[in-house]
Amino acid sequence: MVSRAQVAIIGAGVVGASIAYHLTLRGCSDVLILEKEEAEVSGSTARSAAGVRHQFSNATNILLSRYSIQKLRTFDEEVGGHAELHLVGYLFLVNDAATWEQYQRNVALQRRLDVRVEVLGPEEAARFVPGMRTDDLIGATFGPDDGYCDPYGIAMGYLRAAQRMGARILRGAAVTGFEVRGGAVSGLRTTRGAVACDIAVNAAGPWAGEVATLAGLDVPVRPYRRNMYMTAPFPQIPGPIPLTVDVGSGFYMRHEGASILMGRSNPNEPSSFNTSVDWDWLDHVLEAGLYRFPVLQHASLATGQCWAGLYEITPDHNPILGRHPDLANYVDASGFSGHGIMHAPATGMLIAEEILDGRAHTIDIDDLRINRFRTGQQHVEQNVI
Ligand SMILES: Cc1cc2nc3c(=O)[nH]c(=O)nc-3n(C[C@H](O)[C@H](O)[C@H](O)COP(=O)(O)OP(=O)(O)OC[C@H]3O[C@@H](n4cnc5c(N)ncnc54)[C@H](O)[C@@H]3O)c2cc1C
Repeated sequence: MVSRAQVAIIGAGVVGASIAYHLTLRGCSDVLILEKEEAEVSGSTARSAAGVRHQFSNATNILLSRYSIQKLRTFDEEVGGHAELHLVGYLFLVNDAATWEQYQRNVALQRRLDVRVEVLGPEEAARFVPGMRTDDLIGATFGPDDGYCDPYGIAMGYLRAAQRMGARILRGAAVTGFEVRGGAVSGLRTTRGAVACDIAVNAAGPWAGEVATLAGLDVPVRPYRRNMYMTAPFPQIPGPIPLTVDVGSGFYMRHEGASILMGRSNPNEPSSFNTSVDWDWLDHVLEAGLYRFPVLQHASLATGQCWAGLYEITPDHNPILGRHPDLANYVDASGFSGHGIMHAPATGMLIAEEILDGRAHTIDIDDLRINRFRTGQQHVEQNVI
């Protein structure tokens, strides 16, 4: 039984795994990952759409993506495991003037940060996806260095590499409480016993808000269900196509093998930990999908291959990273609001800096610190799906 660790990481998803990897890579090997489930990587990481993109409205998110996607290109050689990066691009289709103006501003920012992104007319965009309806489109943006990956392969790659360098995982160990003495965390209570630690990292994904409450902190991360629906193999849309987003409706799709994987967020569903597939919501997804891509009327659903998972959402759709001002040896790494796979490599590197160097420095994360909710200085991410 483990009773002490220099760094205790709560959560063995892709974020906790990346933090453990980057700490051990820098020589901090006394790392313990606490996971409430009997298997690691069984939370949101295993249930995502796996998209990676540079196309954000917020500079810090673009920088997190730029660093992370570059790292995923060489993941298999550098870390081990399988990133399965498919750089098929992300195509955003826009059909209203105000959003198009916002997208033009996004493109200018993305280009200033050295991201490749193309601005397309409706007909140019239609070349990417056969049978796309274009008569109401104003334009599209295409990021050729965007795409999708294998989140499970990435998380397991990070975990196994961290273990080889000395990190330990305790499975079936739900954190149930924090020991706080003199304004600092001295240890954690878990269902598998107490663990003393110098630093505690909250990488509990959709559960991060609840975990923070155990430490007496208010960290505004809330779980929201998101559904993924898969078709049977569908040759009428031959691959590869970009991960394509109909911005007006929020419908998006990409290939998964020979099938089409599609989704659309339900903005009216309240926060919950429900992960059963919402079959009622499917009608709304299909309505939007068939409008933009009428060819989908010939697709049949692979009901057994549909799933639901949880986004971990913050009020401004940006993650919460860094040491907490009220509990100096407690570190937040959650609230990715649907972007935790694509931002995990940078997050691991930055949280390792925060712990080992006193402050993250390769990318400035001051905009992402929890203090923004106290000062009101939030830069809301506009480009969320
Ligand atoms: C349908 C869907 C589509 C998505 N699409 C994308 C996408 O295209 N691109 C993208 O980048 N992101 C996407 N995401 C978001 C992405 O999956 C998450 O941001 C990411 O997985 C977060 O990783 P994590 O490690 O923080 O959380 P998780 O993978 O959920 O890991 C957290 C871990 O903490 C453990 N835990 C929780 N509480 C405790 C406790 N008290 N004690 C011990 N352990 C605990 C959990 O069991 C879990 O294993 C999507 C998510 C969903 C649901």
